[in-house]
Amino acid sequence: MHCPRCDAATVAFSIPDDLRAHLPDDRPGAALCTRCLAVTPVDDPPTETPDFEPVSDAFPANDEAAVAFACLLALLDSLVLYRAELDAVAEYAETRGADVLRALERLDADESVEPHLDIDRRTRQLEQLI
Ligand SMILES: [Zn+2]
Repeated sequence: MHCPRCDAATVAFSIPDDLRAHLPDDRPGAALCTRCLAVTPVDDPPTETPDFEPVSDAFPANDEAAVAFACLLALLDSLVLYRAELDAVAEYAETRGADVLRALERLDADESVEPHLDIDRRTRQLEQLI
């Protein structure tokens, strides 16, 4: 599918149950835009974890952490609304070896993406939270 926001290519992925418990949408997967980083819920995601490298090399190397990081981007847009969820998803990624704040900083510095949200500002806010 293409991004409903900017029409660029997306990377679809499945969301494990224990991660989905923290997300506002209960669909089994989502698609991450390779350009604006918008995350759109999908009904029929692939079972294999995709390579997030085409999006940005800021993504954590661990598959589960990379999926959690993508979910975190979905929540980050509504940070105030999803404080507890963000905390849980960030912890999920961190227990799998990701440094969430560092990954966000790298993503913010990545010129290959044009985020629809202010990553730098959201990272500073998230820092207060987790
Ligand atoms: Zn997009």
